[in-house]
Amino acid sequence: MEKDQQDQLAKYRKEFYLRDDLIYLDGNSLGLLSKRAEKSLNEVIQSWKEYAIDGWTEGGAPWYYMAETIGESLAKLVGAKKAEVIASNSTTVNLHQILATFFQPKEGKNKIIADELNFPSDIYAIKSHLRMRGYSEEQFISIQSRDGQFIREEDIIAAMNEEIALIILPSVLYRSGQILQMKRLVEEAHKRDILIGFDLCHSIGAIPHSLTEWNVDFAFWCNYKHLNGGPGAVGGLYINECHHGTAPGLAGWFGSHKQKQFDMEHEMTVADDASAYQMGTPQILSMAPLLGALSMFDEVGINAIRQKSLQLTDYMMDLIHYELKPFAFQLYNRTDESRGAHILLGHKEAARICKALKEEGVIPDFRMPDGIRLAPVSLYNSFEDVWRTINILKKIMEEETYKKFENIRGVIA
Ligand SMILES: *Cc1c(COP(=O)(O)O)cnc(C)c1O
Repeated sequence: MEKDQQDQLAKYRKEFYLRDDLIYLDGNSLGLLSKRAEKSLNEVIQSWKEYAIDGWTEGGAPWYYMAETIGESLAKLVGAKKAEVIASNSTTVNLHQILATFFQPKEGKNKIIADELNFPSDIYAIKSHLRMRGYSEEQFISIQSRDGQFIREEDIIAAMNEEIALIILPSVLYRSGQILQMKRLVEEAHKRDILIGFDLCHSIGAIPHSLTEWNVDFAFWCNYKHLNGGPGAVGGLYINECHHGTAPGLAGWFGSHKQKQFDMEHEMTVADDASAYQMGTPQILSMAPLLGALSMFDEVGINAIRQKSLQLTDYMMDLIHYELKPFAFQLYNRTDESRGAHILLGHKEAARICKALKEEGVIPDFRMPDGIRLAPVSLYNSFEDVWRTINILKKIMEEETYKKFENIRGVIA
């Protein structure tokens, strides 16, 4: 296909383990394994074999500094300074750390804003902190969507009053792919003396960010979606420099100043950068694949990835428009440039259409209640993947082969 011949990133496809019989469009749930990630994982296994305990400081990627090394690559992707980013914990644990550290409720300023479309784990974490501090759900302010898919920035801003202590929002909504206007929201929050941060799970590795320039207070994310770090890969945490020195709410010895950690004192000397917000020993084997995986992002840069991503989703939306007209699909995603890197196609038969797609070798994911999420990923999907997917979908609809499946979701959708 001509579009693939002109694609500067096409050469990266062969660096990934793609099955010939599948079209993988689920890289925003679990990114694929690359040869580089496999290699960096194997190197760490090798250093364990060879150096045992000394692997902490010896070998090609000494474990003691790995969280900071990976943090440096992550910092480029989120537009932050090296000292502001650390690879640590998981998305949910990093959010707990942020809440434990920066939710400092006072009389009359003790509420948290979130939105009704955010990922459930974030909401559970926020509510648990309110409970732990003795508050009720009244302190939880959930911004409602007017249409079930999108959140209006005006509605968030209207809810920012003097009672709000903290705001946690997604950068890109996991269903509709809407990119929230982070810069604008931060400006409005800071005018009212409110701290604000974002969950970057669906934006890291997909779109550019300028967290430092926008003055975002904190951010957190997972590294197994667009960044291809592997199942359960260690997550990421950004803490704006202006907050460095704030004592971690959930402290542990890996938050210590690196030179002091092994003094084993009971008085903690907290690191003076984002490292402070780690807790215990990092999961080295769940971090090692990121060294290889991120080297591709270092090489390509996020702007080229974003540019191709927009072309892929543009092409997909065009094909949906022309090829699927008779079949009552609805685009639930933003269609302009305020969209992230995936498409959400709505249909009342979505659950079983996804099963029919899988039977035909296309891997989408189903999102309750009626969404088919399709994510063509810049580093390994082609324009031909997109073309074939929509044509397979057209055939499924014409032949009604989805009708042989039940319209309910699987355990993991
Ligand atoms: C994937 C995802 C998570 C997952 O959290 P984990 O702690 O990594 O399981 C959280 N929030 C959002 C928005 C996500 O997309």
